Amino acid sequence: MSELKNQTIARIATAIESRRRFLVATHIRPDGDAIGSLLGLTAMLRRLGKEATPFSQDPVPSTYTFLAGSEEVRLDAPLPSDYDAAILVDCGDFPRIGPTMEAPVDRIPFLINIDHHVSKAPFGDICWVEESASSTCEMLFDLGQALPLTIDSEIATNLYTGLLTDTGSFRFSNTSLKVLETAARLVAAGANPSRIAQMVFDSASSQGLRLLGRVLSTVSFHAGERLAAAELTRRMLEETGSSPSDSESFINHLRSVKPVEVAMMFREGDDGLVHVSMRSKGKIDVAGFARKYGGGGHRQAAACRLPGNIEAIRSRLVNEALSDLI
Ligand code: 5GP
Ligand code: MN
Repeated sequence: MSELKNQTIARIATAIESRRRFLVATHIRPDGDAIGSLLGLTAMLRRLGKEATPFSQDPVPSTYTFLAGSEEVRLDAPLPSDYDAAILVDCGDFPRIGPTMEAPVDRIPFLINIDHHVSKAPFGDICWVEESASSTCEMLFDLGQALPLTIDSEIATNLYTGLLTDTGSFRFSNTSLKVLETAARLVAAGANPSRIAQMVFDSASSQGLRLLGRVLSTVSFHAGERLAAAELTRRMLEETGSSPSDSESFINHLRSVKPVEVAMMFREGDDGLVHVSMRSKGKIDVAGFARKYGGGGHRQAAACRLPGNIEAIRSRLVNEALSDLI
């Protein structure tokens, strides 16, 4: 571990030790790493004898309700005076905490930011951003080693879930030796890989599968199949009776086509915005592209949101991506 990383972890350990009441929060539309780190850190703080309350702007997706503690996640606005410190996990930019959470969390006296996204605007009294980490859960495992606690099977299951989902089942380029070593140590601590994989990947609803059929019927290929795009409208959600969280993994089907280097999914949100998810293979940096539109993320997984008509945005961004990226 680098000296700077050791020092930052030591500062976080000291900041935790000297405080009692913690709010833990993550980003809107939480994914496996967001929920795994939210619940994993909440459990770690409690093992240290602290009061810890997990908050999220959006509900825990049904895929992740098997995780212990998921039923305790609060969706209401927190009362700042109830907390000595807030810890944000997996949240690349402060506003990604969500509109309900932003103002109250800003008034909590001490803020710790633990994250692995490329950040536009680093924030927090302690800001630990490790772009080379596969997941926030991987970072929390390292933090756990510096705290006087034992990683038990509940914490291990939460952290393993974030490693599994943010590495695309240990397939993406962020699957380092350290990721696999961390995964092994989490298994030694009680995480069950086949059970977790089954809960995460084999728990789709029939409505979700019908929705996938609808979305895949909109696929278009461009530039000799190097770019693939598809869309998901509110009408498709209504007609199949599914929810947006059913679509979290759909973009992987686009990327799974051999020549595809960039995959783009356009989704009509209930906030009136079109959500654009992007994935890449190889060297193409989709985070840089997403940042041009006020979004962000990682080189190989990024997103942004734009107001307007889904067809117009799809045609414009596909054209921009073809000239910028391909
Ligand atoms: P998704 O396509 O799954 O919504 O997002 C892909 C990745 O980009 C995730 O790691 C997510 O956290 C990140 N991301 C999505 N939207 C934004 C955004 O507006 N800002 C930043 N910084 N990251 C984002
Ligand atoms: Mn993450």
